[in-house]
Amino acid sequence: MLDVPELPEVETVRRGLDARLVGRTFAGVEVGRERTVRRTSRQALIDGLTGATVLDTRRRGKYLLLGLDTGDDVMIHLRMSGRVLLHHPSEPRPAHTHVAALLAGAPELELRFVDPRTFGEVVVFDPVNVAVELPDLARLGVDPITDGMDRSLLRHIVLGRRRQLKALLLDQHVIAGIGNIYCDEILHAARVRPDRLSDTLTGQEITRLHAQIHRVLNEAIDAGGSTLADTQYVDVEGNGGQFQLSHRVYDRAGERCLTCTKARITRVVHAGRSTCFCPRCQR
Ligand SMILES: [Zn+2]
Repeated sequence: MLDVPELPEVETVRRGLDARLVGRTFAGVEVGRERTVRRTSRQALIDGLTGATVLDTRRRGKYLLLGLDTGDDVMIHLRMSGRVLLHHPSEPRPAHTHVAALLAGAPELELRFVDPRTFGEVVVFDPVNVAVELPDLARLGVDPITDGMDRSLLRHIVLGRRRQLKALLLDQHVIAGIGNIYCDEILHAARVRPDRLSDTLTGQEITRLHAQIHRVLNEAIDAGGSTLADTQYVDVEGNGGQFQLSHRVYDRAGERCLTCTKARITRVVHAGRSTCFCPRCQR
């Protein structure tokens, strides 16, 4: 099972870039695999980045964005195995480096997009035309961290639909950024079953779900995200996250629940996605 980097991992990468990239100008760009720039072209990325200065960094869901002084934005999506690394240009490029962008000035720095499975993307686009150029980005739902989703909005989201909670929380068009790992952890902490229908939640359960979405995501960001044995996720310095040490249900099928210490974690597979939950803690 390979779960993509989710909101906390992308936010960790964003913070690493923000600290070292804002105010710097791209001096030169090399693009290897065409697949990384499949929505546009090698030349479009080279033309869009060269000479452009980074004004800010943003994130929506699992999408990383760099604002440029040209008016364009850069969108980076890590998908399954993408890494964004900041290296000294003299350091050997890792295998599967598909984009290498040199930054002018001191200290010398090269931004490298490394992606063995090549599902990731780097795109320069005009934010005015986002609906045409990146419709998936334009259609994202509320980001719980960036948009500060309050309880009344979550209440509206869950009661206004009749969907299983797991599927609802994973739907990027409704809430952006939550994937398989954090969905399972949030639902366990909120003590609701993943197959509960959203419009059956009580007021107390909505309050718990709201609190746990924020707590789990923020604690995971503070821990630098989760790095699993089977994923490629690291921060811009190449370090793994620590939040996997705090997982209570994800990837713990058959093990005893750490919360109730009685039941064993159950794993079910639905639509190709694996879900782990405690049948005793979650109702
Ligand atoms: Zn339990």
